[in-house]
Amino acid sequence: MAYPANEPELPQPLPDGLYDKLAAQYGHEDLARIVEGYRTVRPVTLRANTLKADHASIAAQLQEAHIEWQPAPSPLDSEAFVICQAREDAIRALSAYEAGELYLQSLSAMLPAHALKPRAGENVLDMAAAPGGKTCHMAALSQGAALITACEKNHVRAERLRYNLAKQGASRVNVMECDARKLDSFFSFDKVLLDAPCSGSGTVRYADGSFKTGFSLELLSRSVKTQQALLRKALDIVNPGGFVLYATCSILAEENEELIRRVLPKARAELVPLPDGLLEGVPLLPCQLPEAAVVCPSEYFEGFFLALIKKGR
Ligand code: SAM
Repeated sequence: MAYPANEPELPQPLPDGLYDKLAAQYGHEDLARIVEGYRTVRPVTLRANTLKADHASIAAQLQEAHIEWQPAPSPLDSEAFVICQAREDAIRALSAYEAGELYLQSLSAMLPAHALKPRAGENVLDMAAAPGGKTCHMAALSQGAALITACEKNHVRAERLRYNLAKQGASRVNVMECDARKLDSFFSFDKVLLDAPCSGSGTVRYADGSFKTGFSLELLSRSVKTQQALLRKALDIVNPGGFVLYATCSILAEENEELIRRVLPKARAELVPLPDGLLEGVPLLPCQLPEAAVVCPSEYFEGFFLALIKKGR
């Protein structure tokens, strides 16, 4: 694939089609930011699991192990740590890791649970849940008192989900191993998290002289079909007046803005603004929907999309 002379210089081509998709959607400056973000080696980040520990106790364990950290950007700073030099192995060696007192998670992946704000007593569905980072986060934010159903289609990943829930002490979570597109309309929930399977266009990495990603045009078109069916189902089974948080780790409008624009009008649902302060310090890309957000791959954040949707009464 040849790149136009005025486009960011790439040491190795991005996978077939990805560059063209990005160039069609973003201007030259944003494209350069995205490619730079892909090439950045991000520090390890983790979240204190407040079902079992708190920020201070994790900070003490990091200090004891001589692992330096810095606070995460403000909406996440009460629970998240940015590890300065150590890699994941050093964190996995901590007794806090073994005890499920912390969870290795990207900062972008910590945004959806804060956007959906699960509360004690609420019926919450996590539609595409494995390995369970966001399910555990929602359990922690509700102090273990939301009634969470976690759905996962893939058996091996569902096993991983069960393991993580047990390790993290998220005991009030009911796991359903099934295709969430086929959930009976009889179900109803106050809130639904749909962290949809996607092309991964936000999480491309660069290592050993090439870009690492599972992206392909075939995966993109398959993902869009699944995302559309899952979002329709989410809007079908959320209670009137309830909320759906739609997220992907893609920065392509086909999987995000365009999909939402297509699905919402038929579902008596509307986009609502993300909570105040949630995106403070988060690097953003232009988004075609003013209420939603596209996170730019960057020094601390993976590329990500999130939108909060309210179903009409
Ligand atoms: N939310 C997870 C977390 O934070 O750990 C990550 C979810 S990952 C982006 C998407 C998951 O959806 C995958 O585990 C995939 O197996 C699952 N999945 C894909 N299609 C599904 C479907 N139709 N029903 C239920 N789960 C599905």
